[in-house]
Amino acid sequence: MLNIVLFGPPGAGKGTQAQLLVEHFNLKHLSTGDMLRDEISRKTDLGIQAKALIDKGELVPDAIVCGMIEKILENNCGCTGFIFDGFPRTVAQAVALDELLVRFKQNVSGMLALEVDKQELIDRLLERGKTSGRADDQDVSIIENRIDVYNTKTMPLIDYYSAQQKFYPVKGVGSIAEISERLKAVIEGLTVVL
Ligand code: UDP
Ligand code: MG
Repeated sequence: MLNIVLFGPPGAGKGTQAQLLVEHFNLKHLSTGDMLRDEISRKTDLGIQAKALIDKGELVPDAIVCGMIEKILENNCGCTGFIFDGFPRTVAQAVALDELLVRFKQNVSGMLALEVDKQELIDRLLERGKTSGRADDQDVSIIENRIDVYNTKTMPLIDYYSAQQKFYPVKGVGSIAEISERLKAVIEGLTVVL
């Protein structure tokens, strides 16, 4: 199976690009952010707990997001693999994901990191905030906190996946189609364990 970790700071374009890759490679899109927003809209206990953190731009605890991913991997997806969007976000989550995949005789095929500079991220998120209805996209200080959290807690994953020779930086600036072609070219070059 093809298991792609699509990586990058908030506003890097992970969700947009994931949708295109899902169609092209017949993957299942796993966005923990979307799953959490679904819990919030259904006002579940988990959603209520998550909302308080998300509204501040903080991370939801590892155990919660790892539990959501585990539930999905347990059910046969009938797909060629998964695209993990916005997960893992901490080294502990990456370790948990590796352990989970081993249980299913799988592994991460590659981690593709979309690279976009900070001012461009802030501009994109504020623009998205005008229509997304997401409170965390509408306030510069929350956006900056999300980027800080990314830099301190999530960036170390670059070393984690580099050590496994699975880190592939991809320029995240350009047209959506251009960026998609860059990602597809990297994925087509990956060695995949079937
Ligand atoms: N979030 C989290 N863990 C996850 C996914 C999301 O804690 O695995 C929280 C976090 O507060 C983050 C917010 O949900 O800032 C939005 O995440 P999403 O991935 O949707 O945002 P993006 O980075 O795509 O803008
Ligand atoms: Mg996203």
